[in-house]
Amino acid sequence: MDSKDLILIEDLYGAHNYHSLDVVISKAKGIWMWDVEGKKYLDFLSAYSAANQGHCHPRIIKALQGQARNLTLTSRAFRNDQWPMLAKELCDWTGYNMVLPMNTGAEAVETAVKTARKWGYQKKGIADGQAEIIACSNNFHGRTVTVISFSTEPLYRNDFGPFTPGFPIIPFGDADALEKAITPNTAAFILEPIQAEAGILIPSEGYLKKAKEICERNNVLFIADEIQTGLGRVGKLFACDYEGVKPDMMVIGKSLGGGYYPISAVLANREILGVFKPGEHGSTFGGNPLACAVAREAIRVTREEKLVENAAELGGYFLAKLRTIKSKHIKEIRGRGLLIGVELHPEAGGARRFCEELMTEGLLCKETHENVIRFAPPLVSREKDLNWAYKRIKAVFKRLA
Ligand SMILES: *Cc1c(COP(=O)(O)O)cnc(C)c1O
Repeated sequence: MDSKDLILIEDLYGAHNYHSLDVVISKAKGIWMWDVEGKKYLDFLSAYSAANQGHCHPRIIKALQGQARNLTLTSRAFRNDQWPMLAKELCDWTGYNMVLPMNTGAEAVETAVKTARKWGYQKKGIADGQAEIIACSNNFHGRTVTVISFSTEPLYRNDFGPFTPGFPIIPFGDADALEKAITPNTAAFILEPIQAEAGILIPSEGYLKKAKEICERNNVLFIADEIQTGLGRVGKLFACDYEGVKPDMMVIGKSLGGGYYPISAVLANREILGVFKPGEHGSTFGGNPLACAVAREAIRVTREEKLVENAAELGGYFLAKLRTIKSKHIKEIRGRGLLIGVELHPEAGGARRFCEELMTEGLLCKETHENVIRFAPPLVSREKDLNWAYKRIKAVFKRLA
C-alpha cells in the first residue's frame, strides 16, 4: 500500500490526537529512515530523543532477540535475572543507589509524584492529604490526568478535568518565585532542567544550582524530569550536570529503551525511594526482562560509543554552523548538545511549514509549539551528516525567505 492509502486508513480508523507530518516510514537504520515509496530521509527528531542510539542498532537488536528467545515477562510476582543487573548498572552509571522501573515517561513522573508525597508524609511530617509539589509553567511531564493537573497548557488540559490538586505553579527560571512558593507542606519541586517541549527553553546560568540550594534549605525534594534531556542528549549525561546539580530524584525514560522498547525509571537514594513497601506501587510490565535486557544494551552502547561526548562535540559544532544562517525569519537559535531549537518570528508563518519544506528536502523534524523548530538528530550522527542537514536547512530558509 502506498503512503496516500495508509494516511487515509489512519485518518479513518485512528484517533486524531496527533498532527503528524504526512510521511509514512517503513524502515530505518542508524540516522536514516525510508518511507513506503523508498524515499530516504535523515531523522532529525529521534522519536523525541527516544532513538538516541540510532534506529535498529545492531547490538540492541541482538540483545532484544536473545532475550526474546529466553524470557520476556514474569511480572514482579517472581524475580527475573535481568532487572537486578539493570538496577545495578543504572546506579553505577548515574551515582544513585535505588531505582524503580516503569514503562512510560508519564508513569515514571507519576511514580516520582507518589514517592515525593509519601516521603513528605513519612519523612518530613506533612499532615495527611496536605502535600504540595511545586511545578513550573510551560512544563511538559506527560499526559496522565495527574500529570496534566500541573500543566499550564490549555491544549493538554481542556475538558480533561477534574484535576488532581496539590500542584502550585511558578514561572520557570525564577528562583525567587520558588523560595516564595514553598510552604511547610511543600514536599517537592519538579522541573525539566531544559524545557524541551516548550521550545528548548534553557534557564539562565545558576538557576538550577540556586533552586537546588533553596530546596535543600527547606527540606524539599528537587525532582528533575530528564526524560528527554537525560542520557546524553544535551552533551552531558544529564542537563543538571551543567551546573553540577544532583537532583534528589531523577526521572528518565525515552532513550533508556534504545528506540526499541518503552522503559522508564525513577532514580534516587534509599532515604527517598525506600519509602515504598511491597504492594504500595507497581506495574505488570515494569522491570520486565525484555525491557531490562534492551535497556542494559542501550546503556552499554551509549557508553561504549561515547554518545554523550559526541553530542557535546557535534552539538557545539552544529549550533555555531546554524547560527551562520541569515534569515529574517529567525529570532533565536539555542541549544545544548544535540537538542537545538530554532525560534522563528511570529511573522514567519509558523514552524510547521518549515518542517514540511524540510521534509521534501529529505530532513525530518517537527515543530514544537507554534514557532520553534526542534533539531534533535540521533547521537550517533557524524559531522558529515550534520553538514548534509545544514545544506538542506539553509536552502529551505532561502526558499521560504
Ligand atoms: C516525553 C516526555 C515525557 C513523557 O514521556 P512518555 O513516555 O511520552 O509518557 C515526560 N517528560 C518529558 C520531559 C518528556 O520529554
